[in-house]
Amino acid sequence: MSEKAARCLGSMFQRISIAINAEKDRLSELDGAIGDADHGITMSLGFMAVNAELTKLDAAQALPSEIFAVAASAFLDAVGASTGPLYATAFRRASQALKADESLSPASQAMIVDEMRAGIQQRGKGQRGDKTMLDAWIPAAEAAIEARARSLEVAGMWSAILDAAETGADSTSSMVAARGRAARLGQRSLGHIDPGAASAVIILRAMKDTFVNDGAAAHP
Ligand SMILES: [Mg+2]
Repeated sequence: MSEKAARCLGSMFQRISIAINAEKDRLSELDGAIGDADHGITMSLGFMAVNAELTKLDAAQALPSEIFAVAASAFLDAVGASTGPLYATAFRRASQALKADESLSPASQAMIVDEMRAGIQQRGKGQRGDKTMLDAWIPAAEAAIEARARSLEVAGMWSAILDAAETGADSTSSMVAARGRAARLGQRSLGHIDPGAASAVIILRAMKDTFVNDGAAAHP
């Protein structure tokens, strides 16, 4: 089971990296409108570094908690500023929570989303409405928790998570930035989707595709 779980997470990080890389230019354009136009590049470099480190792990031995721990340090090493510490803390919190439940069960998948949300919030000290990645992560985590309370199956849960994240990310275009570099723009940040919220949707979509398609293999 652990070997399959490790393979599932390995494939998840690969999917994230491929998806971020495919939308790298769009992400940097979004960042160019309100920031320094590097978001696509930095996210792409971060996930490439994660995958490079993960290939050194023995999938037969690795636990899901260990995979997230490796992802945390690799991402932080590759992306020192801004999003680096945020996703590093997100992955580290997911790693810590997985130590109590390495199964990648639907409940554990929901926990990963909520712990990532908690890590980003803990590190960035932001809230909903600040026009950041949390405008995607907070509704996604709420949808995950609600889906578990309603005992939705994996596909239904991940559809709810992704819908909530997409709606949240879209809503950032009508927000004035309160945090990060974009906050200096004030009202001029209106009308643009936050790049961090846009990349959060890409990450969550890749997670959904992994757990909905490969999840059965991870969880016989
Ligand atoms: Mg930037």
